[in-house]
Amino acid sequence: MDNFINQKKLVSKSLFHKQRIAIISDHADPYTEIGVEEAGGQNVYVRQLGEILPNFGWSVDIFTRKNNKEDPAIIQSSPYCRTIRLIAGPEKFIPRDQIFDYMPEFISAFEAFRKQENIYYPIIHTNYWLSAWVGLKLKNLTNIKLVHTYLSLGIVKYDTALKYKTLTQLPEIAETRLRVEQQVLEQADCVVVNSMQEKEELRNLVSQKGCIELIPLGTNVDLFHPILQSEARIKLGLKLTEKIVLYVGRFDPRKGIETIVRACAQSQSRLTENLRLVIVAGSCSDRIDGIERQRIEQIVQEVGLAEKTLFVGRVDHHILPLYYACADVCVIPSHYEMFGLVAIEAMACGTPVIASDVGGLKYTVVHQETGLLVPPQNIELFTEAIDRILGNKVWAKQLSINGSNRVNKYFNLATTVDQLNSLYKKLLTQKVELTLTN
Ligand code: UDP
Repeated sequence: MDNFINQKKLVSKSLFHKQRIAIISDHADPYTEIGVEEAGGQNVYVRQLGEILPNFGWSVDIFTRKNNKEDPAIIQSSPYCRTIRLIAGPEKFIPRDQIFDYMPEFISAFEAFRKQENIYYPIIHTNYWLSAWVGLKLKNLTNIKLVHTYLSLGIVKYDTALKYKTLTQLPEIAETRLRVEQQVLEQADCVVVNSMQEKEELRNLVSQKGCIELIPLGTNVDLFHPILQSEARIKLGLKLTEKIVLYVGRFDPRKGIETIVRACAQSQSRLTENLRLVIVAGSCSDRIDGIERQRIEQIVQEVGLAEKTLFVGRVDHHILPLYYACADVCVIPSHYEMFGLVAIEAMACGTPVIASDVGGLKYTVVHQETGLLVPPQNIELFTEAIDRILGNKVWAKQLSINGSNRVNKYFNLATTVDQLNSLYKKLLTQKVELTLTN
């Protein structure tokens, strides 16, 4: 009993010393099922922040919109990290393009929670443009430091979607989104970009004003690490003799899954009947990802790959390293990716990556060194790239070693979160300096 009381004292003492931070991730709940509907990189990223920031002395509260009646309102995932699900609009899934109207309610719920708990957050880190709007309003209400990460940029997303015809017209919300994305760049205390490419896009397409700091996303290299291919295949019940091409992500037309299917259908390995396409992604039959899955299944049938394609469904992070490790190559054929966590997860597991030559993928994947970069939707060049890697084991091994080295050096989660930690501390020090000089 004494021990328990001492432990409690210790926890509350160290809590006292922890600096509070609020992370706002309006639509992306860190504890939802990843790989289904719209849940992907942002959910993973904010969950990782909540896991790691406490190691640097932060007490983290993540705020997200409650999108399921059955979900608990608060998840205490560790002594210094909570996820708080605020009621803002109906407690059900709402596509992100339709959430904006509920954001004033989100702010009221945030303020009510904060006052009820008697908490002041000196620093708020917002993610995605909807949260940016919330952050800007909160900055006007209280004296906070605002840090923002875009994770997706409207102007690039809309241009790409119109170019590749995944959109025929802009959604109604487009104008508001573009305006908020400019405001947050100009008014936040710092915008964190995840790649050089993102910085260029912001400066060229959004605004010359505002502070930008480059801190890439990272991955947990203790979890995503090289595993013997044979061991992974035995664990997953996959044949040792096949050439495995892997896709990991969501079913979304913008992810370009069709390109891999068509490229696999004409690859050399397919001709020798030695190829297996493994698709890791979840879907709900009555939702947009369910519709895309059906379309992809149809293409798989059309090109005669049904027997050679494995639709695995969604897979949790603790199993995912086995899928990366079992593959000879991981293909990311997206029309656009602001960053693309899958690329660094695959490389961390020592799997060569073939990715579209776009956005953050140009930052993470080094052409001919950790994999190959190919123009999006170019089936011929994707086929050629798949054949090059599957056809040269020695070179593939070198790509694999280079890839995991690169992730360890530049995209190790512990290091990238430490960079964020330094940024937050720097911003808070500026505040102290300002108060002292006033
Ligand atoms: N993911 C997962 N299980 C799945 C499919 C995907 O955990 O079945 C994860 C994947 O590991 C990655 C994230 O979803 O961490 C996808 O992030 P990425 O940045 O590549 O794409 P986004 O979803 O943001 O478009």
